[in-house]
Amino acid sequence: MESGGNSLPSIGTDGGKRKVCYFYDQEVGNYYYGQGHPMKPHRIRMTHALLSRYGLLGQMHMFSPNPARDRDLCRFHSDDYISFLRSVTPETQQDQIRALKRFNVGEDCPVFDGLYSFCQTYAGASVGGAVKLNHGFDIAVNWSGGLHHAKKCEASGFCYVNDIVLAILELLKQHERVLYVDIDIHHGDGVEEAFYTTDRVMTVSFHKFGDYFPGTGDIRDIGYGKGKYYSLNVPLDDGIDDESYQSLFKPIVGKVMEVFRPGAVVLQCGADSLSGDRLGCFNLSIKGHAECVKYMRSFNVPLLLLGGGGYTIRNVARCWCYETGVALGVELEDKMPPHEYYEYFGPDYTLHVAPSNMENKNTRQQLDEIRSKLLDYLSKLRHAPSVQFQERPPETEFPEADEDQEDLDDRHDRDSDMEIDDPKHYDETPRRSSTAVPSIRIKRENADNDPLNQDMHAAKGPEAVVEEVSYSKALDINSTLDEAVSGMKVEQDTSVKQTDSSSIIYPKS
Ligand SMILES: [Zn+2]
Repeated sequence: MESGGNSLPSIGTDGGKRKVCYFYDQEVGNYYYGQGHPMKPHRIRMTHALLSRYGLLGQMHMFSPNPARDRDLCRFHSDDYISFLRSVTPETQQDQIRALKRFNVGEDCPVFDGLYSFCQTYAGASVGGAVKLNHGFDIAVNWSGGLHHAKKCEASGFCYVNDIVLAILELLKQHERVLYVDIDIHHGDGVEEAFYTTDRVMTVSFHKFGDYFPGTGDIRDIGYGKGKYYSLNVPLDDGIDDESYQSLFKPIVGKVMEVFRPGAVVLQCGADSLSGDRLGCFNLSIKGHAECVKYMRSFNVPLLLLGGGGYTIRNVARCWCYETGVALGVELEDKMPPHEYYEYFGPDYTLHVAPSNMENKNTRQQLDEIRSKLLDYLSKLRHAPSVQFQERPPETEFPEADEDQEDLDDRHDRDSDMEIDDPKHYDETPRRSSTAVPSIRIKRENADNDPLNQDMHAAKGPEAVVEEVSYSKALDINSTLDEAVSGMKVEQDTSVKQTDSSSIIYPKS
């Protein structure tokens, strides 16, 4: 397969090394969604073990994430939702039936031991990665992140807090424009919704569409208001193979890079788009999936690599290990080195697995139509939009980091993590019927139009007045973005403006 070859003339070759950092929490593999649940954080630990045995850890700066604090999470999420996640426990959840329902916690998104610290860990790692990119790293990796379905006030699709939105908000402190690309088999609905009405974040999601969770992601959904043409959706059908996938991915993403010119890119590498996934229905090989990583890397723009879905966990570990190699510019041997989870990879004990012979339901004609429709949208997008004069907010400060930790403890209870569960229970059928998709009704806070004059916490409290807005998906992103660029929300009105002498004014480009 062709590699590299982006359309930006100024980039040069792709061969150079990149300064890569990697976030890993040694406890992350111990979180357990419950018996029968397909989401298994243990896959992160399996990935880590492979990275270690392939000798990749020594080639990256490794960090143990600082847990995201309430106020970090509340840069996107509502206060009442976060305080619910903080307080709910498996023992007490029966006393909070109304709240469980309201926040969509219970079935797909169960309450489990340590739920909140799990959220703090994976979100802290993604935000930490964004901070590193803002400080000169080329690539930051967090395989525990990428939980793209979480909404401002609601859990969804195994996701509780949206680490991606939080990381993008962090990147927006430094970059005028951020590109989000999503290759999970499911539509990246939570991220799209958060940035649906802004031109500072472009979202591009490649996903199975039609009678499939979460039901959104129609090709006609392209953003709203200022954000029109800044959300792109690439709807795909069962059995898509590497060649068909790249026949869309490269032309579309290449054109996006050319016209949008992002300062940073976030790539959600959900591995449920691989062949043989327990919940997925695509037919990508690991190399085909990783080709997306290789292509994004070739642009030499700061790149945040995140995990996401992936439910045949041995293949998830294979994929993310191989993609870490791609990030580092290292080609890994197919024969796998022995390690503590070696028995998962039999009988071949190889890194790569052959795709299946399933039918590719995406016809050449359909693919051509999708590509030309999206290129047509992109032709309407004006080049490199820019923001007005902005103050640069203070960055998220974490204590000095535990760099280059080696040989973290990999204890593991195998019994609880082998894939013996019944997949039927988690068929991920759409929650909403797909016909209802284009008209999601979003609650919007009734707030003063000038975010500088309001108390955001008060506006976000449980008693906040809400009004239904009738257009398709516009979230309250204007205030989110204003917060992102002014940093005023969390720190409140005592005001960054007056106290932060490091604020700079950067001009419109
Ligand atoms: Zn998924």
